[in-house]
Amino acid sequence: MIKKIAKWKRRIPNGNYPLCYLCGKPITDVNDLSQDHLTPVSRGGHTVPSNIVPAHKRCNHKKGDMTYEEWVIYQERNRQRY
Ligand SMILES: [Zn+2]
Repeated sequence: MIKKIAKWKRRIPNGNYPLCYLCGKPITDVNDLSQDHLTPVSRGGHTVPSNIVPAHKRCNHKKGDMTYEEWVIYQERNRQRY
């Protein structure tokens, strides 16, 4: 996992930005990069590479302990409100 995040961090200075898995936008600031658990640990997710994705800190924070499926539904609802 640490290796995975280090790999994403290395890409940023080269302008090869990892995409935030939660909003789909590039993460251009290394300080804004976090690793999100698709299925949160609190919901039974494991800290394994298949469950870890790059995400903006703010997106990760917003997602909180939602599963990825719940996040997709949440975003869909938010979109409809505007
Ligand atoms: Zn994001």
